[in-house]
This record gives sequence, structure tokens and C-alpha cells, in this order.
Amino acid sequence: MKDNEDMVCSFCGKSQRVAKKLIANPTGDCYICDECVEICRDIIKDSVKSSDFEPIELPTPQEIKDQLDQYIVGQDEAKKVLSVAVYNHYKRINYLADAKNTKKDDYIELDKSNILMVGPTGCGKTLLAKTLAKILKVPFATADATTLTQAGYVGEDVENILLKLIQNADYDIKKAERGIVYVDEIDKIAKKGENVSITRDVSGEGVQQALLKILESTIASVPPQGGRKHPQQENIQIDTTNILFICGGAFVGLDKVVESRINQSSLGFNAKVTNFSEDKSKLIKELQPQDLIQYGLIPEFVGRLPVVVGLSDLNEQALVDIMTRPKNAIIKQYKKLFDIENIDLEIKPAAIRAVSKKAMELKTGARGLRTIMEGKMLELMYNAPNDKKISKIIIDEDCITKNAKPTIIHEKDQSTEPEKKVVGSAN
Ligand code: ADP
Repeated sequence: MKDNEDMVCSFCGKSQRVAKKLIANPTGDCYICDECVEICRDIIKDSVKSSDFEPIELPTPQEIKDQLDQYIVGQDEAKKVLSVAVYNHYKRINYLADAKNTKKDDYIELDKSNILMVGPTGCGKTLLAKTLAKILKVPFATADATTLTQAGYVGEDVENILLKLIQNADYDIKKAERGIVYVDEIDKIAKKGENVSITRDVSGEGVQQALLKILESTIASVPPQGGRKHPQQENIQIDTTNILFICGGAFVGLDKVVESRINQSSLGFNAKVTNFSEDKSKLIKELQPQDLIQYGLIPEFVGRLPVVVGLSDLNEQALVDIMTRPKNAIIKQYKKLFDIENIDLEIKPAAIRAVSKKAMELKTGARGLRTIMEGKMLELMYNAPNDKKISKIIIDEDCITKNAKPTIIHEKDQSTEPEKKVVGSAN
């Protein structure tokens, strides 16, 4: 090993005094500084990024569904259809890449099947799409169709969706090109002509056209910083051929469209009037592309979404299950948060059911659960860390329904009856 004075980075020549850190090789005759390590790391990362296609490790549809079951309550049929659709999508990508590499004779073009999810707010559409991406270890991005605009109007360009995907893929374009994009509120860009501000495309059709381009196979040009395209800016090129687009929406009133089509065609003597108000699950089975067109989606757009998945309303029991069952269920999360501070949080089953009842009233599906729980837990989470003697907190039904205070048990109270003390007010 040389003297400190003589030690210089063998790559850039910086001396020990200038470099933050110099690392020697095992024999101590050459060195590398921290900055050069960073530069080398970037070079390696970039060379890996531009590497050739690697097939995606693909679980079977059943394995995909099993994993979905760990995070998503109910929606069994939807999970099944999605597992198969997503499996086929990635099987197709693996097949195409393999066929390209090996120049197979029996190569045939397999079309991409994007997916449309129809289901009420807060029933798990976004969660399903996100979880699928997690299971397949592919990048994921979401977009809200209502914020998108056709070129030339105020709002977000559709290319920004792809930018989000690229960012989530850590700018690895090859990886982004196999990602999943979820476009929410797709029903809101149906042609209607009412209720739309004039700064936006009035009919929704323009946005559908713009989205159509990226849903199909295209090489899109994405401004790296987002925002509007700029002639001087060097754009990122991304091929959308293998990006899986999942569009979702509540499609309020779609049941009436399907009902009226069926009822019109079956007018006559023994005609049975179809009505989906009691069982919405039948709607998806009867749904035809023409109904979506009637609803206001343009035919080309409907044609690009050949897989249609229906999700059902969540009932009270489903909401209870959502709060308690999934791997990262909110009750488990709150318990963990308090557990970290050595506080045992007990939320009584009746309290959980009461939260679920309240959420049902909000009509925002499972979305309301967290809002209600946060409201109840805020004061506790604010105050409890100040009182190191708290050993247990009990939340019962009255805390939810009558704004009663939670029961707080202190270490010294353990042997006696729980004493009700005010730590926070429930609201
Ligand atoms: P949507 O996209 O259908 O409006 P989300 O997927 O955004 O609904 O659901 C909102 C939140 O509600 C999710 O983050 C999740 O915590 C919860 N949630 C909704 N549906 C389910 C479900 N079926 N299983 C588990 N959690 C759910």
C-alpha cells in the first residue's frame, strides 16, 4: 500500500485529498474514487438497459388468480377473466420475441387484446390492474381519461400516460414497452355533448381518437419532461405494440342501453322484460360491442378493447372482508402502526361492521373505508405517541356510531378493569 500522499484514482487521477473516498484493489497497487464508481455503475446500468429482450417469467392463469386472491376480495369472475387475458398477453409477447429471434416458419401474428373493465366506483378496478402489474413484475401507470385531451386543447396529452410508464420503468424503454397502463373513467369520454367545458374537446370523440393511437401499435413520441410537445425537444420513442392497456369505468346507465336493446328485439307475445337492476352480473354476459357504441364509445375504440370484464358492487360483508382479509388490509395496517409503538390496537368486529355500513351509505365502494377509518384514527394517532404508558386501545361499535371515545389502557391498568380515558376524540 502506498502512502496517503501518493494515492490517486487510477481512473481519473484525483488524489486522496480531493476524492471523498478511494478504494484500493486487493493488492493495493491501484485505486478507484467514489465518483468513478458511480460513473461505472451508470455505464453498466445503461448497457443492461439496452440489452436484448428477456422473456417474462409467466405464472399460469391459476397462479395469477391465486395471487390476486391475496389482495382482492370477491370479484371472482373478473379475476379469472383477467388472469387468462393477462396470461395470454404476455404469452404472446414471449412468443413473438422468440419467433423473431429464431425466425420460425410457423410464425403468425397474434393480435393484442386490451381490456375493458366495467364496474362501479371503488370496487377494485385500479387495484386489480395495479396488482396484476406487481405479480408480473412489469411497470405500471394510471391515467384519468377525464384529464386527457385531443391535441390542441387545454389538458394533458395522451403521450403523458406513456411518460408516466417510462418514469415508473426507471427510463428503461424496453421494460416500459411491456408495461401495463390503466386508464380510469373511460366512460366519461363517451360522446355526449353535454356537461363538458368548451376548453375541452366537446364530444369526447377526439380524446378517444387520441387514445386509440396509443392503444394500437404505434411508435409514440414522448416529450421527456412531460407537457406539450416542443419542436426543439428530443422526444423519447416508445413502441406501444406490447403495452397492455386496461380501461375502466362505471358506465352508469349502460344497463339501460343493454336492457332496451334486448327488450326491443324480443318484443312480442311471450317476451320477458329484461331488467338488470336486481342482478348486475348478468349485464356483462349480455353486453355487446354495439351497446358500448350506443353508450358513446366510437367503434374503432370498442374494437381495440376485445376483452370485457365486469365487476360487481361490493356488499357490506365484502367491505368487512376488505378491511380485514387482504395481506395489506387496512385494519392490519393500523394494528401494525400501533404495534410499532408497543400498543395493542383492538378494533372490535362490531366496529368494523359499523364502518362497513357507513361506507355503504357513501356509495363510493371500498374507497369510503379508509376515509372513515382515518377520521376515527386521526386523534389517536396524533395523541398516542405522547403517552408512552399506553399498552392497549380498544375501539368498539359506539366509537364508530356514536362518536364515543376509545378505551385506553395504560400499563399500570393491566390488572384492573380497563379505565376509559380520553386520548383523542372520535369524530
Ligand atoms: P375503482 O378503481 O374500482 O374505483 P379502486 O381499485 O381504486 O376502485 O379501489 C379503491 C380502494 O378500495 C383500493 O385501493 C382498495 O384499498 C379498496 N378496494 C376496492 N375494491 C377492493 C376489493 N375488491 N378487494 C380489496 N380491496 C378493495
